[in-house]
Amino acid sequence: MANEFVYAQPVKIYFGEGKFARLGEILSELGSKRCVIACGRHFAPEAEKMKESLDQIVGVFGGVEQNPQLRGIEETVRLCRETKADTVIGIGGGSSLDTAKFAAAVTLGEGEPLEYYRGEHPFPEKRLTIVAVPTTAGTGSEVTQVSVVSHGTEKKTINNPVFMPRAAIVDPVLSSTVPPRTTMNTGLDALAHALEGYWSRNHQPISDLMAVEAVRIILGNLETAYQDGSNMEARANMAYGALLGGLSFALPKTAASHACSYPLSEDYHLPHGEACAFTLDSLVRINADERLEQLCRAVGLKDSEELAQRIAALKKLGGLRTRLSELGEVDLDKLCRDCAAHPLMNNNPVRMDESALRRMFEALR
Ligand code: NAD
Repeated sequence: MANEFVYAQPVKIYFGEGKFARLGEILSELGSKRCVIACGRHFAPEAEKMKESLDQIVGVFGGVEQNPQLRGIEETVRLCRETKADTVIGIGGGSSLDTAKFAAAVTLGEGEPLEYYRGEHPFPEKRLTIVAVPTTAGTGSEVTQVSVVSHGTEKKTINNPVFMPRAAIVDPVLSSTVPPRTTMNTGLDALAHALEGYWSRNHQPISDLMAVEAVRIILGNLETAYQDGSNMEARANMAYGALLGGLSFALPKTAASHACSYPLSEDYHLPHGEACAFTLDSLVRINADERLEQLCRAVGLKDSEELAQRIAALKKLGGLRTRLSELGEVDLDKLCRDCAAHPLMNNNPVRMDESALRRMFEALR
């Protein structure tokens, strides 16, 4: 019997090869007439072309950075206000999606983005429509109410329904140009979402189902997508696996590996997926219990030890950093303190206080 739960998923998802070519039609369905695109440098030239060819596109901010800074949001908001936009389309990895989501939420407010970032005002009641178009198979941001934004060295996760996209267009063709290393980083982020959604203290039955399927699909396809980025079957499976990963943590939220990823990104500049993967195999071993063993058997693994070894092997294949000694001079006291203080740490099924974290990181020296 399932325990009591509340499940909601409000995003209209358009999935499949070639779906992005229907953007104009989808915008019409949504009633979007004046759209600003927020994207990173890899997509900016294409976005500029779209501005010429699609009537509904009125502006492009093409300067989203990795671990996006608030300044990119400020520029997007300025553009939205100038062009009287009704919609923001985020096209790219999680960084572009989160920039679009934050900009759409605050454009119609009186305040500046920094004031909302600092929590000085509640988010405005009226906001722009958000359309999310992921081009990496990783964050699942297209189906979450989360925006992760950095200001200086601080990286903040803001969880609010105002960030929920109206529509997500998940077209695997867009991910075919992701370089191998980013394919591995983002794929392991998606795996972390599924595992952490599953073992989160707030896990629930519908999310669990998607988590198990996401783990199965990602373990079955990430290596191929990494080794042969032009393999569209593997790319499509990864796009679907990452989408399911996003859906599986959207309500339960993530746990210790994401909590640790924040200090690892802020202080040691690891890309988000690599930062999550850094502790993921350790946490599989730490969190192993009968539920996790059930997941492992359901995806065709012998046990959680095999899962931990598969994650370690993927990290090695992708050339990801796996030891503290590869991060430069590490302040272990600060690292453990900051990881322990992160709110997501409270979702971990096993209590990870500073001394438990120290034991985990000591083994990764
Ligand atoms: P990213 O968006 O930072 O992109 C990584 C790199 O890949 C960038 O240089 C980008 O330009 C490039 N890139 C993206 N798509 C490409 C393509 N198709 N071809 C070639 N290059 C491409 O990376 P990400 O891992 O997708 O997103 C990470 C960000 O998302 C972090 O800030 C993380 O905290 C956040 N995040 C948000 C959520 C959420 O629910 N909102 C969930 C997880 C992570």
